[in-house]
Amino acid sequence: MKIYISVDMEGISGINSPEYVLRDGRLYGVGQRLATADTNAAIRGAFDGGADEVIVADMHAMSGNLLVEELDSRALLLAGTPHEPRFPFLDETVDGMFLVGYHAMAGTLYANLEHTMSSASWHKFCVNGKPYGELGIDAELAAECGVPVVMVSGDDKFCEEARSWLGNIETAVTKQGLGRQSALCLSPAYGQNRVYAAARRAVERLAEVEPFALPEIPSPARVAITYKMMPDADRANVFGTKRLDGYTVETTYDHLSGMYGGIWRDYGIEKKI
Ligand SMILES: [Zn+2]
Repeated sequence: MKIYISVDMEGISGINSPEYVLRDGRLYGVGQRLATADTNAAIRGAFDGGADEVIVADMHAMSGNLLVEELDSRALLLAGTPHEPRFPFLDETVDGMFLVGYHAMAGTLYANLEHTMSSASWHKFCVNGKPYGELGIDAELAAECGVPVVMVSGDDKFCEEARSWLGNIETAVTKQGLGRQSALCLSPAYGQNRVYAAARRAVERLAEVEPFALPEIPSPARVAITYKMMPDADRANVFGTKRLDGYTVETTYDHLSGMYGGIWRDYGIEKKI
């Protein structure tokens, strides 16, 4: 059984403000340790549930967040960005995907550290008119490879979003969101226990008959990004795009995975939490 774990930072146990997740933040070093601990809990849960291979993708900001020397030695670590596709080695040989330390989509009320891809420049991201967060994006990219998302962790608002998109998956709530920069946090040890239990249960469930459904794959995918500042929309409004309004640029792809080259071009190294 092969499990692929994508790790973000905003929904990690104990993390509650940008100080933990920005590279120049006062608490970034603490954030790295906490993120590594939640990841290790997920790896341990996966192996105890029956996995025999685990790949971890360090996906927050420009990657390089997890402490490789402290990572469970049974897992492989995929580090560094940008790379295409967004999830190298995610293919039909993978049985299930975990999204650890994720956050709710941009604009979710009372969600801790909510955003979609770039809190600095993206206000909203829609596919065929429907607002998507990183959960929706990553679950669909995985579905294109035939891989179900089986377990997630993050604040209560994110876990609610995950259940509304993916149904009865395993969730580990690490904190209660109170606002963008406030949360009622569990102790990291308690959060890690929840991550472990959800990871283990998700892998155990994979042995059941069709335990997890794949989300619908939109094709064609009309991808509309609404920027916070008009100059960003001006820059993104290149050949092949359609300008919907001053702030919104739309591009149509066969599948969501087709957008990736465009996103990196547009996004560049400005990627922030
Ligand atoms: Zn992040």
